[in-house]
Formats: sequence, C-alpha cells, structure tokens
Amino acid sequence: MAKKASAAAKPALAKTAPKKAKYVYFFGAEQSEGNGSMKLLLGGKGANLADMASIGLPVPPGFTITTEACAKYYEIGEKALHTLIEKEIEAALAKLEKATGKTFGAGENPLLVSVRSGAAVSMPGMMDTVLNLGLNPATVAAMIKRTNNPRFVWDSYRRFMQMFGSVVMGVDHHHFEYELSHLKKAVGVKLDNELSVEHLQELVERYEHVVEHSTGKKFPDCARAQLRAGINAVFGSWNNPRAHKYREMYDIRGLLGTAVNVQAMVFGNSGSNSATGVAFTRDPSTGDNRYFYGEYLINAQGEDVVAGIRTPQQITVLGSREWAKSQGFSEQTRRTNFPALEEAMPKVFKQLDTIRRTLEKHYRDMQDIEFTIEDGKLYMLQTRNGKRTAAAAVRIATDLVKEKLIDEKTAVLRVDPLSLDQLLHPVFVKSAEAKAQRLTVGLPASPGAATGRIVFTAHDAEKKAKQNESVILVRLETSPEDIAGMVAAKGILTARGGMTSHAAVVARGMGKCCVSGAGDVLIDYQKKTMTVGKEVLKEGDWLSLNGSIGAVYKGEINTIMPKLTGPFAQIMELSDKYRKLRVRTNADTPHDAAVAVNFGAEGIGLCRTEHMFFDADRILSFRRLILVAETVKRLQDEVALAATDGDKARLEDELKQPLAQYNQALAELLPLQRKDFEGIFKALKGRPCTIRFLDPPLHEFLPGKDNPTGQGEMAKALGVDVKTIQRIVDDLHEFNPMLGHRGCRLGITYPEVTAMQARAVAEAAVKVNGAKAEIMIPLVGDVKELALQKAIVLDIIAAVEREKNVKLDIAIGTMIEVPRAAITADDIAKEADFFSFGTNDLTQMACGFSRDDAGKFLKDYVAKGIYDYDPFQVIDANGVGRLLKHAVELGRGAKPGIKLGICGEHGGDPKSIALCHTLGLTYVSCSPYRVPIARLAAAQAALKASK
Ligand code: PEP
Ligand code: MG
Repeated sequence: MAKKASAAAKPALAKTAPKKAKYVYFFGAEQSEGNGSMKLLLGGKGANLADMASIGLPVPPGFTITTEACAKYYEIGEKALHTLIEKEIEAALAKLEKATGKTFGAGENPLLVSVRSGAAVSMPGMMDTVLNLGLNPATVAAMIKRTNNPRFVWDSYRRFMQMFGSVVMGVDHHHFEYELSHLKKAVGVKLDNELSVEHLQELVERYEHVVEHSTGKKFPDCARAQLRAGINAVFGSWNNPRAHKYREMYDIRGLLGTAVNVQAMVFGNSGSNSATGVAFTRDPSTGDNRYFYGEYLINAQGEDVVAGIRTPQQITVLGSREWAKSQGFSEQTRRTNFPALEEAMPKVFKQLDTIRRTLEKHYRDMQDIEFTIEDGKLYMLQTRNGKRTAAAAVRIATDLVKEKLIDEKTAVLRVDPLSLDQLLHPVFVKSAEAKAQRLTVGLPASPGAATGRIVFTAHDAEKKAKQNESVILVRLETSPEDIAGMVAAKGILTARGGMTSHAAVVARGMGKCCVSGAGDVLIDYQKKTMTVGKEVLKEGDWLSLNGSIGAVYKGEINTIMPKLTGPFAQIMELSDKYRKLRVRTNADTPHDAAVAVNFGAEGIGLCRTEHMFFDADRILSFRRLILVAETVKRLQDEVALAATDGDKARLEDELKQPLAQYNQALAELLPLQRKDFEGIFKALKGRPCTIRFLDPPLHEFLPGKDNPTGQGEMAKALGVDVKTIQRIVDDLHEFNPMLGHRGCRLGITYPEVTAMQARAVAEAAVKVNGAKAEIMIPLVGDVKELALQKAIVLDIIAAVEREKNVKLDIAIGTMIEVPRAAITADDIAKEADFFSFGTNDLTQMACGFSRDDAGKFLKDYVAKGIYDYDPFQVIDANGVGRLLKHAVELGRGAKPGIKLGICGEHGGDPKSIALCHTLGLTYVSCSPYRVPIARLAAAQAALKASK
C-alpha cells in the first residue's frame, strides 16, 4: 500500500515562509536581473534583452514583467494583478528613470517607453506592441523644446495615438488609416514622411476625434494610466484569436502566457541620421551565409520596415546590388535612391556586423534581430533564433557544425523532422500561392503541391493523364478501385475521410499530394461540378492543392521541385549515427520500395498484398475467385455433412464447377503474385520484407452499388449476367466491414488463399538471391488464429523446400491491431517471430472511432482538449500507448528476442516515433516519403532520451 504523508510533516513545511514571487526583472548595462536561460519566465525577448545587455551590447534599458504575471492576469484579474505588481513596477520605473536620466511621462526630459509582448516561443506578429508610450500634450511640448525637432515629436505622437488607439482602446485601425490617407491626399503627398509639422498636428487632432467617436472616451494623457492599459493589452493579446491559431498551428503548448517588455524608447524617426531595421544573420530561405541579410529604413520607426509603406533598403552593398538587379534598377539609381546601410552609415554598419558575429557565437544559431539607429548611435532591440525554411534549417545546422559552433547532436536536434517534407515534394512558388484564391482547407493528408484540371472519376484521371494533361482527382472519398486514377492524378481531393482514410494512406504511400476530408466541398458526380460556398467549379477547371497544409485553391499555381542538396544528406547521415530505432517503409511495388530505399529505408515493414490484386492483369482473376468462393465453402461444408452417399455424390458434382473456377483463379494469381514479390525482393537488395497477407473485406474488390457501369463491365468480362454480380455484392455487404470478414478471418475461411500467397512468397524467395521474406498475418485477436494460419504457411514452405531442394528462412509473425491481441500478447508471442503494431486499426478499435468517418468530429475532440491530437495522426499515448506498452512487456516476457515494429500511419509521425523509442521497439515503418522524417525523428528521440 502506498504510504500516506504523515500529518507531522505539515507544520515543518508551514514554517518555511513561501518565497515571495518576483514579477518584474530589470535589464540594462550591468544591471540585468535575468538572463538567456530564463525564457519560460521572461519570454524569449525579455531573456535575450537581459542577455544582450549583460554581454555588453547596446540595449536600451527596461524591465520585463514575467509570464507568471500573465498567468495571474487570467487567474485573478487585472485589478488584483496590478495591486500585486504595482510596487515592483514603480521600483523598476525609478531605476529606468535613473539609468536614462529622464522622467517617465513628465518633466523637461521625458522618458517614453515601448511596451511589447514576448512569449517563451516566438510568435512573430501575433501579439501586441505599443511604441512611444508616455506622450501627452505636456511631454510633446517638453520634447520639442529639448530636441528642437517638432516634426519628429509630432510624428511620434501620431504613431503612438494610432497604436495605442487600436491595440489598447480597440479602435479599428482602418479609421486611423482613413484619416492618414485622406490627409495625404488632401495635401497632395504620397509618403508619411512628407507631411509637415502642421499636417501632423492636424492628424493628431483628427485621431483624438476618431478615438472619442469610436470609444466615447478621451485619449488618456496620464503616462501611468497609459502604461497600465498597455500592459493589460499585451497580456490580453495572449488570447487573441490569431495568437490561438498560431499556437495551434505550430503545436505550441504548456506556456504560462506572454511576458511584457517595457523598454526606454530610442528613435529611428528622429532625422536623417536615424534609422530602424530588421536582419537575419544568415539567409532564412536558403541558409546562405554570403552576406548579412536584412533591411532598414532611414528616419522611420519600428513597423515601417515590415509595413510595406516605403521600400526598405538592404544592409549590405552585395545584398543591395542583388536586390536592385531583381527590381530592374540601375546601379546609379540604387546608389542614389536605395543605398545599403554599409554605404549610408558605414561605421554603424561595421558595428552591426560585429554584433551579428557576436550574437551567432553567443546563441550558436542564426539570429533574427531588430535594431534602431538614433542620431548615429546603434541600439539592439531584439534577438531571437530566426524562423527558417527546411532547406535553410539543414544548411545552417550543418554549417554551424563545420564552424564548430555546435556539435553533431545539436545539429540533429535543430531540424524539425516534419519540415523535411518541404524538401521531398514539389512545392508551390511562394509568391504565386500567396496570390491564389483559397477556396477551403481540409486535412493535410499527404504533403506537397499539385495543380491540374478537375476530374471526378479515376477513369477520367487515367484517360486525361494519358493525353498528358495534369489532373486533380476530386472524389467524395476514394476506394481501392480508384488506384489507377490516383496514380495518374497529380493530386487528390476528397470531401470525406480522415488522415487514415484510403485516399490519405494510399496517397502518402505514393508520395502524392492529397487533401482529404474537405467538408466544405460539395460534389455532384452527375453534373460533374464541385461547389465550395458560392464558387462552382466544373470538370476541366484548374484547381490547386497544398497537401502540406490542406489548402485548396482555385486556378493554376506553378510548382517547383526542391533539390536534395548536400546538407540534407549530411543531416540524414548524422541521424543514422544517433538513432536506435530502425526505419522501414510501407510499400507494395518495386518502384515504391526503390524510392524508399533511396530515402534510406532499411527494408519493408508492411507490404499490403491486397493492393496487388487491383492491377488490371489480375483483378478479373480475383473477382472470378470471389464470385464462387462462398458457394465453394458452402458446398464443401455440405459435402462433409452429407447424410447419405447419394447426397454426397450429388453435392460433389455440384461442387466441381465452382471449385474448378476457384482453383483456376488461384492458379492464375500465383505466378502474378510471385512476380510481384520477386520485383520487390530485387528492389530491396537483401533488405528484409514483411509481407502482410490479404486484409480487406472482399466487397472492396467489386464494383459497388453506386457503380452500375462497373458491375456491367465485370459481368461481361466474367461471362455472367449482371444480376449475379449484384447478388454477390449484396451477399458480401456488411454493416460494419472494418470489424467484419477481413484480415486473417478471410484466411481462416479460405485457407487456399493463404496457401497461394505463402507459395508465392516462398517461390519468389527461392528465385531472388538474398531475399529476406517475412510473412505477417493480419487482424489476429487470438493465438489460435495465428497458429492455424502459421500451420498452412509452414506446410507450404516445407513443400517448396522439398520441391526446390533448398532451405528457406522465412519468419512468420503477426500484426497486433486488435485490442484482444495486445492484451494476450504473451500467448501470441509463443507463435510469432515478430509483432508489428497496426496502430491504425488498434486506434480504431481501442478508441472506438471509425478510421474512415471520425475525421468529421475529431477536430472538436482536439479543440476541446479531450484528445491532445487526432489519435489517428499521433498515437494516443494514454490509451493506445498503454496497450502497446502492455503488449511489448508481455511479448518480450514470453519471447525475449522478439522483433517489434510498428506499421500504422503513426510510424512516420515524430511524436509517435518518440513513444516507439521509449517503448524499445525494434523499428518503425512508414510511407516512403516519410522515411527521412522518421530517421531524423528517431535520432532526436534517442538524443532527447539520453539527455
Ligand atoms: C494498421 O491497421 O495499422 C495497418 C497498418 O493496417 P491497415 O492500415 O492496412 O489496416
Ligand atoms: Mg490494419
């Protein structure tokens, strides 16, 4: 029994007075109370400002109000929070006034501050910022007197009113934009900085009216009231819809909130010797380190650089020349109108370039920095690890290893595995995608980009593709019958189905772009139209899909194929060095196997043999078998139970013809199947191959009720009437086919099919030198199912060994995908050489969610936090994960050396791979295009676990 904490321990605890929480941390030259390791508490911006000040970089002083204060803001409300932090804020303000020699919001030399957000993980542009806080009529007058630069002061004031008015007071910023553009038009100027002092004064007046009119309140003059409201606004912005969306998109969890940074203002808008800019220490798109990538604007403040009002200039001459070339400007025009910082302010440039190197050395990563130049003096306002593309991430990580700034392990941890997708599939030209009309968003089922003309049937997809047309196959959902059309299409869009729907699984396997479950898309097969809202698109119209984000666009968008450059290969090599898990692939054609091997797959973990039955040269044989299969079994049973010899003879006679057809079909399938395996074994060049025997319910191989044309064609091809086909389709109908007659249950009823497949494997293994075959029995729930199937397979292997006079080494294992199998894994292990966890079905059956339909409502489950992630994408660690753990322990307990793998879609998901590492699995298996992701994710899991 667990020990209860003794009551006597309590007073001792009570005696230690709780440490008083500190909510405000000062930063500034030699005075920083925080440091770079305190990101969770101070946010990235706050921690790095403290850090930069400590290493002697020119940082305007200020203070950070912690993320814990943000959590309190939501817990106890703003009033109680301010009571809690008031004294600390006053003390920090006093210190700031001392450090700057200015007075906050008053006096002859007024102190103005910026109020900016900053969470532990950077969320660029998602939360709020206010600059120039502390301005009011009195401080405006004092600053004019002091600077003798009324234009700068009024410019700062109108900026402040606009930001404070919209961010803090909630006035729609269009009202301010309207007044500004109206005034510019009225006085006949184009740029903000062409407005005179009088114009700016008038603008401030107009803004005052805007605020009063929109809010019914006067714009506040008291600097302390402004500050308090500014702090509240930043805390409030943690929960604005775009910040929520951003955290959801980038899976940012577990943070307390945002910190608030209150920092003494420095002014890039105080004249032509002032400027403001943003820069990356390396190119964030390519990782290139040829020059300092960034932009700046003279006589401007903060947002101007990114706002697109004026054309920003480049930092370096080299960068500036490349930019001018792309814009079609002559060198003369460039130098006169858009000089680089290196030319305009060479001294400041030099200092900034030195700081660039200092920061990279200090943070050992590419930095995204903000700076301001006030009257020729440089100030650093921010540094953070820069966001980057996947290409840049691999390049930077490997370059930093070469530069000895980081070690190999750190390089492996620096690249987001999922981002590697960008490097493996065609992608849209960014600018073209940004301009395209987005119709809707579905599930990002299979990454990459595709553009083509709409077709609504697999048959049309094949036909058009043969005429060299790019097509997008649009379906309510796909079925195995659509395979050839899916191969022919550039991309696939389905209105229904989740991440493990047929379309999603097959498309991922092919590395083909697919958006599934786009519920807003209404499809009319009769009229051949798809409707999204008011847009009606017809067959032949252009449509584009971004399978990496699930976006569906109207029209054609150009695509490009990224190159697998050296750094990518280096990151892969490093991943292989540090990972423990092996990585296999799910593939069922020699082509897919070869693609996967090229991506580094160490074998096939799941070869779904049913996909082979759909090929045109064998579907008829298989359909012929299905046509008589039930009759054969019924008659065989009746023969066995026949009461009289006469009955027996009659039944045997009746059985003859269907049995012959059944055996004939199997005889036709055997060589074809054997050839499939030979091809795959050859492509694998001695790597292991797990061949999973027939799994889906038989009705999937027939044209359904919704396909009378297909039924007619099948009847004709098999020489029967259409009614016979309809009867078989009706007979095979199941209310719940995924829980029906499928998997090893088919092999139990039709052992001849198991035998045919076993023979095809064994004979192919004899033919191909070095072939390493493994046979896997699907959907086992009880060890007896496995034992029965295994006996058939062993008999066949023994027969082939005798016939060919060889010794074969073929492992026989099972999938663990029925919860009962996981629970009885110790029994099952006794009969199995290996387990492969089929987490698609295991999730379906453990959670009770249909893998084909649950996509519709799982979004709500995730949004409401019932499940952290869609359990078909990320293993549900608490439920399915426990089943896996249990099965691993039982399996290894019964058979210590048993090989354990996973072949559900989760095998390519980094979070699930981390769980597989923790469980000590032998390998993960995933679709070919996920192999590099899995290699990297497995290495990261191993490195994180060893930390
Ligand atoms: C599974 O169930 O996880 C699996 C790999 O098998 P399938 O997806 O073919 O049912
Ligand atoms: Mg399965």
